[in-house]
Amino acid sequence: MSVARKFSGDRLIVATHNKGKIAEFAALLGDYVREFPGVGDLNLPEPEETGATFLENATIKALAAAQAAGCPALADDSGLCVNGLGGQPGVYTADWAGVPRDFVKAMRRVHDELGHNPDRSAYFISVLALAWPDGHIEHVEGRVNGTLVWPARGAGGHGYDPIFVPEGRDRTFAEMVFEEKGQISHRGRAFAALIEKCFR
Ligand code: IMP
Repeated sequence: MSVARKFSGDRLIVATHNKGKIAEFAALLGDYVREFPGVGDLNLPEPEETGATFLENATIKALAAAQAAGCPALADDSGLCVNGLGGQPGVYTADWAGVPRDFVKAMRRVHDELGHNPDRSAYFISVLALAWPDGHIEHVEGRVNGTLVWPARGAGGHGYDPIFVPEGRDRTFAEMVFEEKGQISHRGRAFAALIEKCFR
């Protein structure tokens, strides 16, 4: 097995136009990196997410940003996979919310499509891709299994958080504070793996 490449330097491009993600990445990697410019700050275009998998989409975003900026870039691609729906919405998790994004509608769609299916199991997944301008890429993945509930509960979090109860808990992600969710969430786990692999 090859040895993972370690990140070195002061700047890491966050390959997203989402301000929330930039703040989240900066909070999670603040001990290791000084500056986190977003691709919007650098006027870089947003590539189309044409991949069929989370891994492909994270790679497309990270590589496009690293090569355009000439500096390492980090992207995540994440989503909700519902076992009773054959893994949907999967890479289309954001798309199910339409434009402009409406997650109440998206959660309702998951609920409606499941109908009376007794299998309410689902998982969130986050795949992170760290790319360098020379084309080298490191990947990590984080997952959290759980159960879908209805009606939605809780006012915190974002996206599909109000209908997802992680394994071993009885509250939804939207009923938890940021730190509690981060300790068990797919993204929290993916970042812990990334830090171990590339930042220590
Ligand atoms: P991406 O920005 O293309 O990776 O889209 C991921 C989508 O997955 C987002 O729009 C959210 O709806 C959903 N998602 C990812 N992580 C979470 C989470 O922690 N809670 C709720 N929804 C999430």
